Amino acid sequence: MMGFGMLLGLPLMLLTLLVLVAVPVLVLVWLVRGVNPVASQPFFPAAAPTAIAVCPNCHRGVQAGWQNCAYCGQKLKA
Ligand SMILES: [Zn+2]
Repeated sequence: MMGFGMLLGLPLMLLTLLVLVAVPVLVLVWLVRGVNPVASQPFFPAAAPTAIAVCPNCHRGVQAGWQNCAYCGQKLKA
């Protein structure tokens, strides 16, 4: 009797625990994405709006002030 009760109670307890943990996390993620539009944008460092130049070697976006390309190491400033 006791063994059957534990067998039934343990998965139910784990499920409750999972729901209690997962729901606040999902709500938090949803809230963060809803409030902050930047968080919902796909993360592409090379296509970031701060990229104002293109590396002559690998043709990826580089930022002003960079001495070398962060992707291939190409020297950017003469
Ligand atoms: Zn490069």
